[in-house]
Order: sequence, then structure tokens, then C-alpha cells
Amino acid sequence: MERKIARSLETLGNLQAAGYQLYGHCYCGHGVILDLEMLIQRFGEDYVFINEIRILRLLRCSVCRRPAGQITLQPR
Ligand SMILES: [Zn+2]
Repeated sequence: MERKIARSLETLGNLQAAGYQLYGHCYCGHGVILDLEMLIQRFGEDYVFINEIRILRLLRCSVCRRPAGQITLQPR
């Protein structure tokens, strides 16, 4: 089940269509929901976020000021 989801949700457009959102986590435990529409405008619907680093580079934790640690998927 999880493997199937991972295969079919590879791009930002896939995510939006399936009703998922991206969640950025920091190592300190703080997390924030990312603005998917903003990311699509910036990177495009076909942007593959698997193993991506460009979105991560945009993120900085509002609590500890470190760069974000990782991005995960969440059902909306
Ligand atoms: Zn933090």
C-alpha cells in the first residue's frame, strides 16, 4: 500500500491532485505545512520532489533557525 502511494505520487501536481500536502520537519521537532500552490508556481507541476533538495533549501525552522531536516507527505 505505502509502496504504491510512493510510486504514484512523484510530482507536485500528483500530490495536489491526490489531496496530499507536504510537511517540512526540523530536527528540533518543529514542523510546518508547506504551501503546495506556491511550490507548484515556483517549480512547476511536473517537479519530482523525491530526493529533492531545492525545496528543503528554501526552508528554515522558525524556532531554531536551522535549515529544515526533511519533507514528508501527509493526507490533507
Ligand atoms: Zn528547529
